[in-house]
Amino acid sequence: MTSTVLSQVRSLRLPQLSPATRIAAGLIALIISSMLLIDIGVGLVPDSQAALQQARKRSAENLGILVAELAVSPDRTALARGVSAALARRDDIRSLALRRADGEILFQNGEHVRHWVPPPSGGSTLDHMRLSLRDADGPWADLEISFVPAHSGAVQRFFADPLVRLLCALGIGGFVLFALYLRRVLSYLDPSAVIPDRVRAAFDAFSEGVLVLDTKGRIMLANRAFVDWVGEAAEALQGRAAHDLRSLRHMHKGTPQDFPWMQAMAHTRSLTGDMMELRPAERDARKVVVNCAPIADGRKGARGCIVTFDDVSALEQVNQSLLQALGDLEASRAQIELQNAELKKLATRDPLTGCLNRRAFFEAAAALLEESRTKGAPLHCIMTDIDHFKSFNDRYGHAVGDQVLQSVSKQLSAGLRETDLLCRYGGEEFCIFLPGTSTEVAMTIAERLRVDVESQAGPGVRSEHALKVTSSFGLALLVPELQAPGDLVDRADIALYQAKRTGRNRVVLWQPGLEPENKGGSAGH
Ligand code: GH3
Ligand code: MG
Ligand code: MG
Repeated sequence: MTSTVLSQVRSLRLPQLSPATRIAAGLIALIISSMLLIDIGVGLVPDSQAALQQARKRSAENLGILVAELAVSPDRTALARGVSAALARRDDIRSLALRRADGEILFQNGEHVRHWVPPPSGGSTLDHMRLSLRDADGPWADLEISFVPAHSGAVQRFFADPLVRLLCALGIGGFVLFALYLRRVLSYLDPSAVIPDRVRAAFDAFSEGVLVLDTKGRIMLANRAFVDWVGEAAEALQGRAAHDLRSLRHMHKGTPQDFPWMQAMAHTRSLTGDMMELRPAERDARKVVVNCAPIADGRKGARGCIVTFDDVSALEQVNQSLLQALGDLEASRAQIELQNAELKKLATRDPLTGCLNRRAFFEAAAALLEESRTKGAPLHCIMTDIDHFKSFNDRYGHAVGDQVLQSVSKQLSAGLRETDLLCRYGGEEFCIFLPGTSTEVAMTIAERLRVDVESQAGPGVRSEHALKVTSSFGLALLVPELQAPGDLVDRADIALYQAKRTGRNRVVLWQPGLEPENKGGSAGH
């Protein structure tokens, strides 16, 4: 029987069953087989059928003795009374009869004809027993006893067997308990057993962190690098859901299904390049690039996922340092540009008035001259000099004199275009180049500047009230015979000299015949 059970278990083809179910079935089969062997060897459970048969046989013999004694009694009612009294205490006997060899019933108790089923062999069965009564002449009658049936059918009889009941209870109950227990054990205690050692060793050789997950995202394997990073024992990681790990669970605020490895398994496609942060307890966080490759199950589904964590913290740090250096460079570049602008201003501008200095002015003036010649466009020069400027210094001091200079330059600058040049030519003299204007317009501009100085420059000096500031203006047009900017400036200067000489606070246009300053005259500026 044992070998039959074993061979039946072996021949079971259960491809769809889980390992836990199959192991549970195997264990139960082994236990049942062992119990059967023990039962055969030492009799594990007493045979209840045999015990019952024995007890009934003894009852039948006792009744036989009683009936044999009472049957020969002269009191004809003694048999009936004695049997009734004996059976009153027995509820396992349905009927009883005393039958002669010719089949005539001499005496009966209960509905014997209905209950009695003659045993086929002429002997006795468990429920129907026959006892031959004899006297000195030999057998004179049979005592037939019909017992309450022990078990009606073969199946019922089979399952009434205590051994069968024990094995059935053990088989069903044990199988369920084993299956549940093994499922848990396989999931939580020894999932690593499904990963061969050589695969584990190969993963351990990787510098990246590697996790092998099952379909529910539980860790089947964590390689050495990953274990080192998260700082937990390898055994403690196995069987735990990756999204529950302290180091990883912050990665997504949503459900476990939002984690990249669950997504990769759900859609059966690799996910690469997710930048995440590994935050183990009491350790520095690591920047990692997460790649997930689902393990196909051959039916367009996934039966697990390999997840790699590529540590890019160092790279990230270098990036941060580079960004920092870049930021510093930008800042210092801006600083240098500012300083350059300042230097350029210092090199090209007059510090008191902000006007171009002579050197910068002549550079720009040469370019304007060249452009004017190339385009054939007119170019005018205005020389202007503050009238009796010395008297401001003398009367109010140099500081006020400086303020007068600033106020005049401000008026001049405000009245010019972007394309015009304004230079502090020296002392209280300013030189202006006006490109692209006719002489008429240039005269108008010079006149407007004069009026602006006269009306605004004095009030522009805050420290003194009611200063009367005027300037004289000389204007000259570039003509072919003038070679350099200085030639044009000289002509404007001659016109200015003429303005000074003829009363100041006026505009004079150069024309042939005007005398230069050093050729005599009283109105030097
Ligand atoms: P004119 O009307 O003929 O031009 O007479 P002026 O007094 O304006 O001319 P002058 O050449 O006699 O005097 C110019 C004075 O300007 C002499 C100089 O001390 C003064 N000066 C030159 N540069 C500066 C300066 O930067 N600041 C101050 N406060 N005075 C200056
Ligand atoms: Mg002057
Ligand atoms: Mg002067």
